[in-house]
Amino acid sequence: MCMPCSPLRPPPLVRLAALTALFGALAGCEALRLDAPAPNTRVDVAPPPSAVTITPVSTAPPGKKHTRGAYYVLYHDFEIDKTDPLFAELDALPDQVFGELRLPPSTAIVQVFLFDTQERYERYMRAKYRNLPPRRAYFIAEPRAGGTDELKIFTWLGDHLSTDLRHELTHAILRSVLKEVPLWLDEGLAGYFELPPHQDGVNPQHLDTLRRGPFQPDMARLEKLKDVAEMQKPEYREAWAWVHLMLRTGPGAKKVLHDYLQALRSDPNPGPLLPKLREVVPEPEQALADYLATVEMPKPRTRSRASGPK
Ligand SMILES: [Zn+2]
Repeated sequence: MCMPCSPLRPPPLVRLAALTALFGALAGCEALRLDAPAPNTRVDVAPPPSAVTITPVSTAPPGKKHTRGAYYVLYHDFEIDKTDPLFAELDALPDQVFGELRLPPSTAIVQVFLFDTQERYERYMRAKYRNLPPRRAYFIAEPRAGGTDELKIFTWLGDHLSTDLRHELTHAILRSVLKEVPLWLDEGLAGYFELPPHQDGVNPQHLDTLRRGPFQPDMARLEKLKDVAEMQKPEYREAWAWVHLMLRTGPGAKKVLHDYLQALRSDPNPGPLLPKLREVVPEPEQALADYLATVEMPKPRTRSRASGPK
């Protein structure tokens, strides 16, 4: 349902969540995978090119209001409906991530800056993080005195809000308990958990594209990627597929992933994962191709929210 709202306010989240759910079911989220730096990336504020004159603009992150979640604080400048189901879904995300990945819970708090418009968000990001390419959302781990990172998410009130928040919060959740996460695996896990729970990690758009091919899985290549710019749509799709394979095909492959993540709690570089996977899945590439042919597309969700105002 959509609560009455002032025309001065952005659309309430309850309506956006419904739109996001509908869009997600039809198109997934990868069309514009717009988050970005791997959580291990320290975002340095590089000086602008000397030939460019930066005109000072008034930029500030949202913060006139805040909404506390179980493990995050949402900063915003507009009214939001705290009873929106989106918040309950976000609150449940750490239990889902930690439970499925067998990781210990974290007490870290994530700061989420939610801008009301894309224009305001992009203006802020350009001013604050000049060396970053334009993206729809960012997770940034900022080092601070004392050793632990500040975990920050920046995004705006768009149609992909639910997916983007789940994706970026997954990065933050992983970062809060792991020393490091290889770029491809970080994106694969975020791509898996960005989907609402009823989809069981299945991204219909990824699945459809991979099935239509051509698709030649190559985890060894993925494991060599170090720069987020190298992660394009095909890499996001393949990373998702490997994670789905490992979490859904049986105890052997799942244990490989669990053990690898356990190693990452203390060792930032436990080596490649592929040799460990080969010990239980002798031909992983063929196994992935075979597996994708058997994955069921998620059924459309039937719920009251989806029948609300459109
Ligand atoms: Zn990501």
